[in-house]
Amino acid sequence: MTGFSDSTTDSAETVSSKGTVGTVIRSHAGGYLVYQPELDINLLCQARGRLKKEGVSIVTGDRVTLDDIDPEKGSGVITSCLERENLLSRPLLANVDQVIIVQAIHQPDWIALVCDRYLVHFQLEVRSSLPVLCFNKSDLASEDDKKTLRSIYEPLGYLVTIVSAITGEGMDGLADLLVSKTTVFAGPSGAGKSTLLNRLDPELRLKIGVMENDFGVGRHTTTSSELYRISKRQLRLLGVDEESVAWIVDTPGFGLSEFKHPEPLDVVWQFPDLAKFAVDCKYSDCTHLVEQGCNVLANLGQIDPTRFDNYTIMVKESQSEKTILRDTSKKVESTVKSVGGREGKAVHVPLLSGRYRSKAKNTERQQLKRSANLVEDEEDIALEETSDFDSSSGSSNNQSEET
Ligand code: GDP
Ligand code: ZN
Repeated sequence: MTGFSDSTTDSAETVSSKGTVGTVIRSHAGGYLVYQPELDINLLCQARGRLKKEGVSIVTGDRVTLDDIDPEKGSGVITSCLERENLLSRPLLANVDQVIIVQAIHQPDWIALVCDRYLVHFQLEVRSSLPVLCFNKSDLASEDDKKTLRSIYEPLGYLVTIVSAITGEGMDGLADLLVSKTTVFAGPSGAGKSTLLNRLDPELRLKIGVMENDFGVGRHTTTSSELYRISKRQLRLLGVDEESVAWIVDTPGFGLSEFKHPEPLDVVWQFPDLAKFAVDCKYSDCTHLVEQGCNVLANLGQIDPTRFDNYTIMVKESQSEKTILRDTSKKVESTVKSVGGREGKAVHVPLLSGRYRSKAKNTERQQLKRSANLVEDEEDIALEETSDFDSSSGSSNNQSEET
């Protein structure tokens, strides 16, 4: 944990600090820990009472103006919260510069569908920058594996970095990407995120509280988050200018099952290889799945089949979820009755009859069944395809998907 002892005590005087800006690196019951770059100090701050009254929410990553800074006590007061560039919902975090999606090449094997799910999710959440793809465990991969991964994602515009947290291969390149940025590390468990962060800066192991075992036991799983700064000494060791700052956030216990389904019509814009044909589709509400005359379908020959399969799976899931929500809300409406209806004074009460309850159960069952069908669909596709690295397109999907 970033301790309050990080605070330096350069000056014993209270700094007149109107307009001084800092970054919230942790929020907790007692207040906020704020890093002030000019003083290079962590300050324990309270928010002005007025902010609380106005209902201003302050989260990790927020840039805030400070007053009454006392470097000796390591304290200050937050007077306002500056406008956010973006807000990530999970982990709850403001002003994210980039997301690095970490996946193992092997052990566990890389899965194209998982990769696309992470890409879509974070492209929608952080629209200002494309996610970076970090493929870890390069020590277990062949040159062909690495070439295949690059050949799929680099032409789509993604930055691909291939590393080994064990041998250190590619780590300096990864460190370069972090300079002057706030980076979120996300990815399936087992991909090697903790090992990677520990390799970037061994002090992070203590701060993040990573346990020695592989099962994630003991790691914090709250929805709040904390910014960690890679030490200057460590940046120098990684060949980066030691005056640089690099902030990182880990996403422990955050898996695919927590992603919201995107709007069905938003999905295509997250697939650059489909989007370039979708712009010329004649229907504005085209799903690009079945429509006659769809420009994406007309150009399927130029799209990697696995990418199109993944697109199809994600759109169908989103459509299915929308249908379930619509059906459920219709059922709720039809189970409301009016009572005491004279002179417009009727009140609507829900009909909680046995019939209603059994319908709700049916809905629940339908939902489960539909999810199961989708999983079956994915398994069918998986079975039809050969191994990720054996196929000629190199991007098929042969593994069970982690959620
Ligand atoms: P996390 O769940 O993403 O945080 O993954 P961990 O960091 O806990 O790593 C999962 C397992 O992969 C551990 O047994 C690590 O030792 C191993 N691992 C991590 N990075 C590498 C790597 O670059 N090469 C190899 N061979 N194993 C790695
Ligand atoms: Zn279309």
